[in-house]
Amino acid sequence: MTDNLQGIGMTSQRTRERMVQRLVAQGLRNQKILDVMRNTPRHLFMDDALASRAYEDTALPISYGQTISQPYIVARMTELLLEKGPRQRVLEVGTGSGYQTAILSPLVDYIYTVERIAPLQKKAKDILWGLKLRNISYHYGDGSWGWPEQAPFDGILVTAAPMEIPEPLLQQLTVGGVMVIPAGREGQQYLYRVVRGEGGCEVEAFDAVSFVPLLSGRV
Ligand code: SAH
Repeated sequence: MTDNLQGIGMTSQRTRERMVQRLVAQGLRNQKILDVMRNTPRHLFMDDALASRAYEDTALPISYGQTISQPYIVARMTELLLEKGPRQRVLEVGTGSGYQTAILSPLVDYIYTVERIAPLQKKAKDILWGLKLRNISYHYGDGSWGWPEQAPFDGILVTAAPMEIPEPLLQQLTVGGVMVIPAGREGQQYLYRVVRGEGGCEVEAFDAVSFVPLLSGRV
């Protein structure tokens, strides 16, 4: 288990260090986020056949036609979420491989993560449990509706792209809450940050991105 956790060869600490150096070169400066990325074994979140490519700065396929987000985008979304101050209760839509969840876990108080593909959720849950990350609750469902029973959240991070920001997610954000979400159709997708104020929401656009679509229902 120790070997598997630390990784050998292309999955080693040294490979992760190079990944972090790339993130710094790409402009990421938040030391806490960089430290978590340095210490999180990304190769555990993908299938064995692709594990040797785990630290390349690219999105890679996981099962069921989904992808594990590229390290830069994971770091960037985390940075945008935390820039306005620490977050206590964070809703994540699209657990996927669980890698983004693992990065958030040591940086926020508690994560509520929602996934619509049951086997992906189970696999992610097992890996995150194995890494002893315990501040996470899992929900199997359509995250476009948020997680009303656990709302409100002072942070929401969405890792699949809707055409437009879903209204229920806006409603489940506290005043002062921050949501980071990709939106738009293929080829015209951007990362947005929504900050909910007393009177309404402030929306800023950031990087051009290419996420899998936010789909309705569960499978
Ligand atoms: N953060 C993940 C990204 C996985 S890809 C990672 O780095 O691995 C996006 C994920 O969002 C997929 O697992 C997909 O099944 C899920 N997804 C898409 N639409 C969803 C919805 N409406 N509710 C919950 N999850 C959804």
